[in-house]
Parts: sequence; C-alpha cells; structure tokens
Amino acid sequence: MFIEPYHNQHQQNTIKTGWIEVVCGSMFSGKTEELIRRLNRARIAKQKVAIFKPSIDTRYHQANIVSHNASSISSTPIQNSIEILHLAGDCDVVGIDEAQFFDEKIVEIANQLANEGKRVIVAGLDMDFQGNPFGPMPKLMAIAEYITKVHAVCMVCGDVANYSYRKTAIKEQVMLGETDSYEARCRKCFHL
Ligand SMILES: [Zn+2]
Repeated sequence: MFIEPYHNQHQQNTIKTGWIEVVCGSMFSGKTEELIRRLNRARIAKQKVAIFKPSIDTRYHQANIVSHNASSISSTPIQNSIEILHLAGDCDVVGIDEAQFFDEKIVEIANQLANEGKRVIVAGLDMDFQGNPFGPMPKLMAIAEYITKVHAVCMVCGDVANYSYRKTAIKEQVMLGETDSYEARCRKCFHL
C-alpha cells in the first residue's frame, strides 16, 4: 500500500514542495484504479485536481478516465503533453493516465509542474506487449520521487503477473480498443 507523503507540514507561508508519483504495471493491474484512489482522496480534502489523458485512448468515455471496474473521474483528453502546462492552471494535483502514449516532452512537463509545487501523479504501462519499456515511462520513473508498481494475476497460472501478453499476431506497439486481445501473464507464462 502506498502511503501518500506529506511534504508541506512545516512550510507555512513558503513555496509549496511538489513531487512526482508514478503508478505503473501491466494491463489488468489496477493502475487507473490506484490513480483514481489517490485523486479522489485529494479531492475530498478540497485540493484542486486536474486530470489528463492522451486523446488516442478512447476505449471508454471520451471525457472520463474510466478504470476497468468503472469507478471513474472526469478528465481532459489532449493531443500533446504540452497542453497540460496550459491547462493545469492553479491546481494542486495533476493526474496523468495512460502516460505511455504521450510524447517524450511529458518528462520535462512533469518536472516543471512538480517544480511549481504541484503533486503530479502519472499512471501508465511500464512495458509494451513485447516486454520492452513503453514510451516515456522509464524516464518518468527515473525522475519520480515515488514509484508504485502494481501487479495483475497471471491468467494462465495464477502467479503474480507483470507482462501484457498479446494473443494476436499484430506487431504494432499501439493497438487500441482491444483489451480482449490481451492477457496478464507472469514471466514464465509470458515466454511460453
Ligand atoms: Zn503464469
């Protein structure tokens, strides 16, 4: 269980300290649920929350982050990561979902937001279907203060799974809207 850090307890009347959290893992590992859990708790505490996701990911509702268990939170779909800087405004917490689909600029932007005093929570796939690091995720993990790797259950043997196994022969890295075509698998079953 990730316990949220509390950075600002002795900093009244000074500039707030920002930081970056990364929630990563395979498909079916509950990344988005964990992102939503953190964002909802911040919102309950009356913090201003903004949420962004790449507009490439339109599997579910256009303007909502929706996790697989349907607990959802309103979000803004954007084309390029630079838009986050313009749209984040005076919010305290910036959530970014499906970050693996964003351009590399997201790394610089996450740093900039955190440097401005914002809490930045990034969720995304750490590996693609071939088991390679996915998009900007490795760099985001490198610059983050906190990383939480969540796991799925292997759909073959029931062990702890951290791979997204693609059941079809399509070789493009990005294949959207086809969650039926994937299985969470452990290391052993991924290489079967
Ligand atoms: Zn397995």
